[in-house]
Amino acid sequence: MSGAALYRRLALVGIGLIGSSIARAAKQKPGLAGEVVCWTRSAATRDTTRRLGICDRVYDTLPEAVAGADLVILCAPLGANADIAQAMAPAIAPGATISDVGSVKQAVIRDVGPHVPEGAHFVPGHPVAGTEHSGPEAGFAELFERRWCILTPPPGADPQAVERLTKFWQGLGSKVELMDAAHHDRVLAITSHLPHLIAYTIVGTVTDLEDHLKREAADAGQMIERAEIVKFSAGGFRDFTRIAASDPIMWRDVFLNNREAVLEMMGRLSEDLAALQRAIRWGEGEKLETWFRRTREIRRGVIDAGQAGTFAATEPEKK
Ligand code: NAP
Repeated sequence: MSGAALYRRLALVGIGLIGSSIARAAKQKPGLAGEVVCWTRSAATRDTTRRLGICDRVYDTLPEAVAGADLVILCAPLGANADIAQAMAPAIAPGATISDVGSVKQAVIRDVGPHVPEGAHFVPGHPVAGTEHSGPEAGFAELFERRWCILTPPPGADPQAVERLTKFWQGLGSKVELMDAAHHDRVLAITSHLPHLIAYTIVGTVTDLEDHLKREAADAGQMIERAEIVKFSAGGFRDFTRIAASDPIMWRDVFLNNREAVLEMMGRLSEDLAALQRAIRWGEGEKLETWFRRTREIRRGVIDAGQAGTFAATEPEKK
């Protein structure tokens, strides 16, 4: 433990994919947190976290975990924030910074803001990094490296508290950007929430279609081979199935809490789908080609910006 650490005691409230990745990275990188502690609501997850040894201490109660912490990060689903913030408020130390990792920011300010005690700082955050896996076993220390972390300090937030938290996320390997919460929610509605909604829709639609085709084939006395969708999924479907495997509770809360921005983006998407539908119906090849060329450029931009991650088109043979 070092007296010179950026934060003396980091308390993580909720320890799933994101919380456990912060714990691992904060313990691995020197000078960020003197001590890393956590609380999570279920005894089973507390036991798993103790077994993994990723925190210095795992507490059975929320007030014990946050007491004495100079940085508290909420890492539970968005819908849990209001109750958590209310329950921990009396135990928050004067001068502590309360932050979070939620994928929607106006809702966090609405739910947590009123419970931030006098003398504590409130700097919401969102690491734009993740996977489709959940729970403390899914986390890894490198998750935030070269990924953006967006901080959305409300008006009047203490600049020193913001700067200290910026250094913390940079220490975890992230690039940090400050943003207005409403702007964050619109940007993420396009770059993250809409793609997840499309993946959830397409995987559901294709599965329903398969059932329908099977019924038709059975009626016609022909058998369709079981699981053809899985068998031929490398044609594009599998990329959607990865995203559509994301945590149902987390994503339920994202859509309920970013309703307006997501509905706006869905409106735009359905207009574009209608335009493509028309182009296909009328055989307008040039229109389709122009559209696809433009989107290919966007993919190249993502790669150039170092935000593409890795994608393996092949996989090891299954034993
Ligand atoms: P996760 O792996 O499912 O872990 C969730 C944690 O929250 C667990 O510790 C769980 O406790 C706890 N929890 C769940 N429901 C709760 C409730 N009602 N009350 C109190 N605690 C509750 O989730 P995650 O993927 O780390 O996501 C956590 C947050 O990070 C979400 O707000 C999400 O928006 C944000 N985020 C996620 C990603 C991503 O890709 N996953 C990326 C960026 C930001 P128990 O296990 O003890 O029940």
